[in-house]
Amino acid sequence: MKQMTKSTVSNWGNYPSIDAKTKSFTSVSELDQDQLPEASYIARGNGRCYGDSSLQSHIISTLKYDKILEFDAKEGIIKCQSGITFSTLIDFLIPRGLFLPVTPGTKFITVGGAIASDIHGKNHHVEGSFQNHIIHIEVLLASGDIIECSREKESDLFMATCGGMGLTGIILSAKFRLKKIETALIKQVSIKARNLDHIFDLFEEFKSTTYSVAWIDCLQGGDKLGRSLLMVGEHATKQELGSDESLRNPNGKLKLSIPFNFPNIVLNKITIKIFNFLFYHKQIAARKESYVNFDKFFYPLDFINSWNRMYGNRGFVQYQFVLPIENSKEGLRKILSEINNQGMGSFLAVLKLFGNYEGLISFPMQGYTLALDFPIRKGLFEFLDRLDQIVVDCGGRIYLTKDARMDKKVFEKGYPNLERFKNIVKKFNPDLKWRSVQSDRLAITKP
Ligand SMILES: Cc1cc2nc3c(=O)[nH]c(=O)nc-3n(C[C@H](O)[C@H](O)[C@H](O)COP(=O)(O)OP(=O)(O)OC[C@H]3O[C@@H](n4cnc5c(N)ncnc54)[C@H](O)[C@@H]3O)c2cc1C
Repeated sequence: MKQMTKSTVSNWGNYPSIDAKTKSFTSVSELDQDQLPEASYIARGNGRCYGDSSLQSHIISTLKYDKILEFDAKEGIIKCQSGITFSTLIDFLIPRGLFLPVTPGTKFITVGGAIASDIHGKNHHVEGSFQNHIIHIEVLLASGDIIECSREKESDLFMATCGGMGLTGIILSAKFRLKKIETALIKQVSIKARNLDHIFDLFEEFKSTTYSVAWIDCLQGGDKLGRSLLMVGEHATKQELGSDESLRNPNGKLKLSIPFNFPNIVLNKITIKIFNFLFYHKQIAARKESYVNFDKFFYPLDFINSWNRMYGNRGFVQYQFVLPIENSKEGLRKILSEINNQGMGSFLAVLKLFGNYEGLISFPMQGYTLALDFPIRKGLFEFLDRLDQIVVDCGGRIYLTKDARMDKKVFEKGYPNLERFKNIVKKFNPDLKWRSVQSDRLAITKP
């Protein structure tokens, strides 16, 4: 049996950290019952969730289980092991004229992590979340059985595994559909929005454009509340670019690196205000069209290696919520006012529109979602509890993969299918072999 490695582990927010034993595997036989000490386990991909979803005293790391198993270039279908990263897949797919059907704001996640969080991208309003593109997955259950499941076959297991945060078992492989592209560039239009009414009008105007995302300057109040920059895009065609452009990736390399945790005082209201000012004014024209490399469009943060260290050694939380469409504007107005009144600015405040695609326990619902980063400091959790109340009153929910502190009552109110999910978890994980610090905190995995 390969040894388990002991270390202190945290995810992208660097909060919380725990001491854990980690086991990697390259073949499924290494996960046989007699190979693992009696304990609770959770699967972990690349640790790009922010909080405690992939933390547990015993962790199964999938990162070495990372092979492409089948590939059909003509049909645009791939089957791979769950530990392969989006970054590796993209390097393989782009030169072949293919792209991922859904991608988050970083390419450093695994396929298993994408399914367990049922991730969304900038195209949710048009193309749904990752699960909408899956043909089938294979899950290793606590019993040792491996089950292939899909929307049609073992559908309960499938529905509870997509977005189920690793609580049904270990996703071993996935077969899913890809998107055909002609070039590695995105035809982007960026538009300045004066305030919240304006940005909502713009999202409406561009609702049939495949990709859209807005960055909000959340330190503005009054008639500038919700001032933002909307970026919309489509994959550029060869015809648009002329013959000399190809499917290469000319500037997809990391450029900067943050070598150590910044002192906690570096991020304060003043630095955040300066950053937001520069970001909003970097574009002079009200509307600008350009062709940008896909890396720059989808993964601007990946250009700064270890940018999470900017938040200092106390770490940070990402607060991401979604509000139902009918309450989105008023709810956002309340939340942005609250942030502005408290001077709790966030460098990154990212607004997206979700379409009418829901899973059993997935985060998206039709409406608007906002993600904000807050460094951990005194009073933060009390402040977020107040925001939670607004979210709950509007009928919204908080994203599990970003969460490290939500109260279980807030969670229970936000996820109406929770009881059904728990029953499926009980069926496939009866002794709670798979459980995380988060699932215990939220009482999903209470014996
Ligand atoms: C900069 C940045 C931008 C992001 N942008 C977005 C975004 O736009 N949209 C979005 O939806 N998310 C976004 N995320 C979150 C990220 O996509 C998810 O947290 C994703 O699940 C991380 O994948 P991972 O491989 O790192 O998994 P981990 O973080 O290690 O784990 C995440 C969850 O998946 C489970 N898991 C992982 N692998 C398996 C497996 N093989 N079997 C069963 N369970 C498994 C874990 O138990 C855990 O519950 C972003 C994260 C970062 C850091």
